[in-house]
Amino acid sequence: MKPLPPIEPPRRTLLKQTFAVSALAISGLAGLSVTSVSFAASLSKEQRDNMTPESVIEHFKQGNLRFLENRPVQHDYLAQKRSSLTGQYPMAVILSCIDSRAPAEIILDTGIGETFNTRIAGNISSRDVLASMEFACAVEGAKVVLVMGHTRCGAIRGAIENAELGNLTGLLEEIKPAIEKTQYSGERKGSNYDFVDAVAKTNVEQTIDNIHKNSPVLKELEDQQKIKIVGSLYHLDGGKVDFFAS
Ligand SMILES: [Zn+2]
Repeated sequence: MKPLPPIEPPRRTLLKQTFAVSALAISGLAGLSVTSVSFAASLSKEQRDNMTPESVIEHFKQGNLRFLENRPVQHDYLAQKRSSLTGQYPMAVILSCIDSRAPAEIILDTGIGETFNTRIAGNISSRDVLASMEFACAVEGAKVVLVMGHTRCGAIRGAIENAELGNLTGLLEEIKPAIEKTQYSGERKGSNYDFVDAVAKTNVEQTIDNIHKNSPVLKELEDQQKIKIVGSLYHLDGGKVDFFAS
């Protein structure tokens, strides 16, 4: 029997335990005590629908704090897999970079069935990315679009240095306007990671502008206050995710 993990936001703990116990009851194992289950369910429709965009962001902030303090939730991935088999009710769609050091689900401590994830070098909003995010919000009911850049981003550095390679050349072109928009008085070179990180922040803001401009579907959902489109920057050094004011 697995012990309950020691720390979890109280409301979520209760909800997950309640769900897990009722699932056990259905399967004829109701005799097991509450302490015999851990985080055994992904989000239910009711739990997700009861969340607001603000509470989703708060959930992410708490998850990142657990990651920072090395006390992640004890995810029972197989149970989460089973509970989400017949339906998924993720709370958000995350757009982040492909960088192997910036896995959104780990650094925000989320489980299976909790977030849609689109990953592309430089976290830009290409047409297919927009289509994926529109599906996540307009069809599946996600409450937040979280654009997450990160420090020491190779795509940003590549754009600054005018790197050219196959299809990557065109992708980097989409980042370049963010370089010009970045106000920075120091050395504006790719070898200066202070500048690279400043451009990464601008690039997140630029991506959000592009989402507003190129996705009337998401813009309308935000205008109706059904979703929030929020920017953030993950710091490889230290592990903190800074959420931009919106
Ligand atoms: Zn990157």
